[in-house]
Parts: sequence; structure tokens; C-alpha cells
Amino acid sequence: MLTIGTHMSIAGGLAKTAGNVVRMEADTMQIFSRNPRGSNYKVYEEEEIEKFQKIRREHQFKALLAHAPYTMNLASGQERVYEFACTVIREDVERMDRLGIEYLVFHPGSHTGIGVEKGIRNIIRGLDQAVTGQEKLMVLLETMTGKGTEIGARFEHLREIRDGAAHPERIGVCLDTCHVFAAGYDIVDDLEGVLEEFDRVLGLELLKAVHLNDSMMPFGSHKDRHAVVGEGEIGLDALLRILRHPVLKDLPFYLETPLDDKGHKEEIRMIRKKLEGAGCAEGDGM
Ligand code: FE
Ligand code: FE
Ligand code: ZN
Repeated sequence: MLTIGTHMSIAGGLAKTAGNVVRMEADTMQIFSRNPRGSNYKVYEEEEIEKFQKIRREHQFKALLAHAPYTMNLASGQERVYEFACTVIREDVERMDRLGIEYLVFHPGSHTGIGVEKGIRNIIRGLDQAVTGQEKLMVLLETMTGKGTEIGARFEHLREIRDGAAHPERIGVCLDTCHVFAAGYDIVDDLEGVLEEFDRVLGLELLKAVHLNDSMMPFGSHKDRHAVVGEGEIGLDALLRILRHPVLKDLPFYLETPLDDKGHKEEIRMIRKKLEGAGCAEGDGM
């Protein structure tokens, strides 16, 4: 059974957002762990949290994903930027774990000139001061497009980060279909090859979540512009093959496509319909 949700705004509070997930007929959601472009976060009232957990329980939401803010750069060589990033990841691992959120995904960061190796060392140090090993939550490294000095456009980068961490068992990977495509992994014409490479470098057991996005930008462009499913360079057929693939189909999929809640509801409906139709025709027995 497909597990799918979208990135949701939490501007109206957690309980209201959970209600919107139900209305969207989604199974899960992604939310920002705090203000994505700033530094502040809301402290939720006990009542608000209880309401949220109740909706989540009653509607049997699947694994919830929190996304760390874009302003958090753990690879930075600038002290103030780095210290801020360390504080954010430490606080948000703790805050999201306390909310019972299953995964916290973050962009590994941009080294902005100090080089990939030093950048990776900073990321590892930042993770080590945030992850205690006592959490239920897992931190996920996101695959990136490699724009500018971004780290994480190669599976090898993510491997190095995880291998260097004090608690690698708390660290997994979130694959963004738009990002890997723009990074030069050919998920359109060689999905098998990309998955084999992922397995060889990282191990498929580390893959915990998929950001399901089409790409406005061409293959290998290293540019990060999400498109609605079926309206980009990846295309509907390739994305359906990903959704159906035996090693991927049981993962949670999160849309980060440029639509509002109403548009996302339609997008999810369309995807479910396409999957059901093809599932029967191909007789893959679900
Ligand atoms: Fe992301
Ligand atoms: Fe993403
Ligand atoms: Zn992106």
C-alpha cells in the first residue's frame, strides 16, 4: 500500500495541520521543524500537542518527517554560521523527538570554499553534538543537486558523513527524486543502475524516505527547481516506476511540489489512480 503525503504549512498550529492531512486524504506529512528562513520556533501548548497526537493516532498516520530550516549550514567554515547550525540541529533533534516525529531530514550543507572534506568534518562534528543515541527519531541526510558548493550530490558524501558519526545507527538517507536527477543520477533511463549504486555505496537499508518531485531543470543541471509530478523533466512514467519499484514501494513518499493543499489533494489522487490502474494491468499482485 502506497504511503504518501506532502509538505504542509504549520502556520495554523500542529493540530490544524493534522486535520488538513486528513482532509487531503494523505497518510503522512512533512513539516518544517521551525521557521525555514529564520531561526525562531513556536512552543506548543500541551493541549495543542495532545490534539495533534489524537488526530495522528485516530487516522493512523505513517512516519512523520520534519525538515530542518534552509538557514542551517553545518558544513560552514564561518564560526557564527556554524554555531547557529549546531544549535538548531541540537534543539530540533530534541524537539522533534519529543513530539514523536519519526524522521528529521536536513540538507548536509554548503562548504562555501573550505572544501568538501573540511565541510564533511564540520557536518560530522555538528551531528555528534546533537545526536545522543538515545533518540527514537532518526536523522536523515538529503541527497542534493550539487548547486554551488553543496555537499551531498554524491552518495559517497552521505556515506562519509554517516561513517564518521558517533551514532551512525541514528542516521539514514532521504532520496529527493528532483535532486538526484539534477545531480546526474539517471533515474529516468537507468533506475536499476542508480539503485544498485545507492546499494553499493550506502546500502538500500539506509533509505528511509523519498521526496517525490519532478524537476523543472534538465538532467545533470545541478539546479534545484521542483515541478508538479508529471510536469517536469523526469516525467510521470519514470516517477510511477519509482513508486512501484519493489525496493522503494513500501517507503513513505513526500511531495514537495509547487501546489497548495487543494492541488496536492488532486496530485495524490492522480498518483493513486495511476498506480491502481497499472497494478492491475501488470498483475503484480499488489
Ligand atoms: Fe530538502
Ligand atoms: Fe527535498
Ligand atoms: Zn529541492
